[in-house]
Amino acid sequence: MQKITIAKGDGIGPEIMDATLRILKAANARIEFEEIEIGEKVYLSGNTSGIGKEAWESIRHNKVFLKAPITTPQGGGYKSLNVTMRKALGLYANIRPCKSYHPFIATKHPGMDVVIIRENEEDLYAGIEHQQTDEVVQCLKLISRPGCEKIVRYAFEYARLYKRKKVSCFVKDNIMKQTDGLFQKVFMEIAAEYPDIEADSWIIDIAAARLADTPEIFEVIVTPNLYGDVVSDIAAQISGSVGLAGSANIGELCAMFEAIHGSAPTIAGQNVANPSGLLKAAIMMLNHIGQQDVAERIKNAWSCAIEEGIHTADIYKEGVSKQLVGTKEFADAVIAHLGQLPQQLKVAEYEKGVQLNLPKYKRRLASSKVLKGVDVFVDWKGGDANQLAEQVAKLNSDIRLTMITNRGVKVWPNGFEETFCTDHWRCRFEVSNGKPAEKGSIPQLLAQALNEEIDVIKTENLYEFDGVKGYSLGQGQ
Ligand code: NAD
Repeated sequence: MQKITIAKGDGIGPEIMDATLRILKAANARIEFEEIEIGEKVYLSGNTSGIGKEAWESIRHNKVFLKAPITTPQGGGYKSLNVTMRKALGLYANIRPCKSYHPFIATKHPGMDVVIIRENEEDLYAGIEHQQTDEVVQCLKLISRPGCEKIVRYAFEYARLYKRKKVSCFVKDNIMKQTDGLFQKVFMEIAAEYPDIEADSWIIDIAAARLADTPEIFEVIVTPNLYGDVVSDIAAQISGSVGLAGSANIGELCAMFEAIHGSAPTIAGQNVANPSGLLKAAIMMLNHIGQQDVAERIKNAWSCAIEEGIHTADIYKEGVSKQLVGTKEFADAVIAHLGQLPQQLKVAEYEKGVQLNLPKYKRRLASSKVLKGVDVFVDWKGGDANQLAEQVAKLNSDIRLTMITNRGVKVWPNGFEETFCTDHWRCRFEVSNGKPAEKGSIPQLLAQALNEEIDVIKTENLYEFDGVKGYSLGQGQ
């Protein structure tokens, strides 16, 4: 018996959770349930995170959490519980299978069967944002090597375990050479360790277009957080089954499983909600805890009910569906089919007694890191880059002004008058003699800036790592 934590959530949450738990019990899942309270009630009791201490303890102790959707109350001040949980519990991998169930559920893509593996902790979702000038705000995009290695390895291990032949990486490394470039580089490094699995890398824009148009060409997709957020909703929607998809959030120690939809408050308490999304999440959970036999039984019984046209209102279609049922009755139909195999839909067969092989991240030896200069960001309301250059070039130490950019485009030397400039300027200072910059050269520069009344808003050091530039060139440089 494995103990897991469950939360019935808000809106349709309690109904779909009851249906799911009934099916799990009828299928003889070797699970004990421990219920916690999270969501709306907790928020409204004055806890802005939506989760209390005891609930955290239960999840951290049991390490496996099946969660129904919750309602985040309207108005400011309430933190997203999902983002909090993913990060606090280190749930770095978000796995969302998006499959069509043609001809029983309408879709334009009958052959679609894609699994999206989204990095869940970093990228622009670090939420580090600042206003720096009147005109410019920034959001930091953080991509780490451990983050990339963990998610990419997860994708290849997942592909191997679930007998998928190909893993595709979606990035924008032609523009973001450092951040997306690192993700893509790690993807290629790890792909080489899996010669049995085909690997290809796509630029996110054309990749998303192809996913929406010909999803059949993809099997497993691995991608950073923001792209993953967008493409996983596209994929779920075009599979025709946004209400049917489940997802897993996996960490090194804990895992959380949930439907991808929300709490659907307008249909709550009416016995009309489709419990399939949460049931799919529960099937992923059973696989995760090594109860593949139960997972198969439930998935096959679910497929039988769908094949027989026993459909809830959200997927009911005249001519295809045979019987319109409510949440409870759908659960009854799944239970009635336990032990049977579908005729047309794929029979579920999950590898037993095997786990994903996910070694702990090993930090590499530190590289040789050499300071080569600094980017000094300045708030300046004048419009002519030549004037700014004249002022800023007065600052000097062993590093000298080599370039000014505005929103990344080089505007000095030899800028174009056509380039639109904001009040946010980057002044790049670099060593000219090929040697490392002196330790004190940046503070020296900044002290001079203070004297010259130059409004420095931030600096970024320019390093070489093992002789390779760790910073991008200016656009047009
Ligand atoms: P929603 O997913 O709840 O509903 C979108 C539409 O899909 C609605 O028309 C709804 O009736 C329908 N729908 C959703 N699930 C269904 C099901 N199982 N069966 C039949 N129809 C279903 O999205 P929303 O309306 O944008 O959000 C409602 C609330 O849910 C909000 O408070 C939001 O913050 C929350 N939410 C929670 C989660 C989560 O807990 N993981 C995720 C998304 C939204």
